[in-house]
Amino acid sequence: MTDKPRAEPKRRSIAQALVKHSDPSKIVAWYCQHCGRVYKDKEDAERCPKKECTYWECETCGLECSAFQWYCSSCLETNRWVRELEKLSRAEAIRAEDYPNDRGVVYEDKWYPCLDDFIDAHEHDDSGLPVRVWATEPSEFQLTMDDVLYEPFQRWLDDVQGILESDIRGVKELAAAVEAFNAKQILTIDWQSNKAVDLAKIKKELEEHER
Ligand SMILES: [Zn+2]
Ligand SMILES: [Zn+2]
Repeated sequence: MTDKPRAEPKRRSIAQALVKHSDPSKIVAWYCQHCGRVYKDKEDAERCPKKECTYWECETCGLECSAFQWYCSSCLETNRWVRELEKLSRAEAIRAEDYPNDRGVVYEDKWYPCLDDFIDAHEHDDSGLPVRVWATEPSEFQLTMDDVLYEPFQRWLDDVQGILESDIRGVKELAAAVEAFNAKQILTIDWQSNKAVDLAKIKKELEEHER
């Protein structure tokens, strides 16, 4: 994903060579001088991940982090939100006034039932209302002929040759029943889409109102 080089410890351990008893010039492995753990490579022994052997530092805040990591968990989380906000700022946007008010929105992995709820929850944030929030797309609970017929048929068939889909009877009747069933469904789930809702205008109005 990234071409960033691997993380380096701020303090390496000291690697000691393990030599062949019969031939001391022949190194068979390396061990970490602090904990004694044996490694095939010198480099790995110097990078021994045990807490007392090496010291790893977060690139952003400078606090100690886990071995082999660039960032501590808190900076990793912050960086994740920075990337998420960048993605949100680049997404295609829908104007807030064009967005249905019975439709959910998503911000920082949290779902809000509608824009008004989101605005109520965030208008007093330190930096004011966020200018963008993720839009959602409704997904209705619906069945297809694949769900009710063709997939069960293939499971039943289990690769047996000579039995044809075209010999199934009652397909038209089943399709009509599925259509009638789908027409009665009212269940929907709002899934986060790749579009944003633009709140810049609302944000401006709120700020002017406060002055
Ligand atoms: Zn060690
Ligand atoms: Zn950090």
